[in-house]
Amino acid sequence: MRHLLSIEDLDRAEIERILDRAASFAEVSGREIKKVPTLRGRTIVNLFYEASTRTSSSFELAAKRLSADVVSVRSSGSSVQKGESLKDTVQTLSAYDPAAIVIRSPHAGAARLVAGWTTAAVVNAGDGKHEHPTQALLDVYTLRQRLGGLDGVKIWIVGDVLHSRVARSDILAFRKMGAEVTVCGPPTLLPRAVETLGCRVEHTLDRLAEADVVYVLRLQQERMVDAYVPSLREYASVYQIDARRLSPRQLLMHPGPVNRGVELAADAIDSPQALIVQQVEAGVVVRMAVLYELLAGARAPESSPVEPDAAPQPA
Ligand code: ASP
Repeated sequence: MRHLLSIEDLDRAEIERILDRAASFAEVSGREIKKVPTLRGRTIVNLFYEASTRTSSSFELAAKRLSADVVSVRSSGSSVQKGESLKDTVQTLSAYDPAAIVIRSPHAGAARLVAGWTTAAVVNAGDGKHEHPTQALLDVYTLRQRLGGLDGVKIWIVGDVLHSRVARSDILAFRKMGAEVTVCGPPTLLPRAVETLGCRVEHTLDRLAEADVVYVLRLQQERMVDAYVPSLREYASVYQIDARRLSPRQLLMHPGPVNRGVELAADAIDSPQALIVQQVEAGVVVRMAVLYELLAGARAPESSPVEPDAAPQPA
């Protein structure tokens, strides 16, 4: 694997290998010194052209726990704001000879473009409405940890599927892992022909009880150029997941950030079925595994990635 641009590029065996690796890194995250020397001396550039809390912090932490040198560039405060094109920025940063570039962009296809301009491995950390592959991997990881596997598991993805890169990556990943996926939302918030991705479509929550996992999406108001819902209150009354709509056997997920009181009620967020915190925790180990897979996996398949950091050598 040279880049991670889309879940489409991975088969089930590759997903499982990354998740097994992530599980081995979970042990490192439990240590007091949470570092292994795997990527010592290698440089990772995080290029974020769009707001991010979880993804950017967990990529940074993942790279640091693998002992890489990390440079994080955000569009505000960088030359991007002065109009430097994506290509120029990537070429400038390539002067540091990075081993990997992690890119978040508001434009679909940006990560694939970057992959054509650099010799570094490129990781798509979210490109517009297109894909967010590491989110899907951490979601599968979280469910695997909880359920053992996804074969035959019924997952309902509820909400603004139209504007969601997470939905697209998740549908692909959940299907590859054997789950049955249903998407649910108002017709205005479901992409046309979404069922060609291999999922079923529902427009009401009437049959929600059949779901084993309820995966709620954020209403992406920043991507809405027209009125997609009559009002937030109206949307919430029909699609909001609250504790009343969840049964105790159902698991609840959300990629964050949550619009509290819109797609999710506080009593659901704080319910024992919610895996939202576990998803964030999984983000670090799964991104460690992705960076390992891209930068060290093929080179050193037999080496143990979780050997504790060696004592520092005298300079
Ligand atoms: N954090 C996720 C993303 O970057 C989901 C969201 O923003 O709603 O796509």
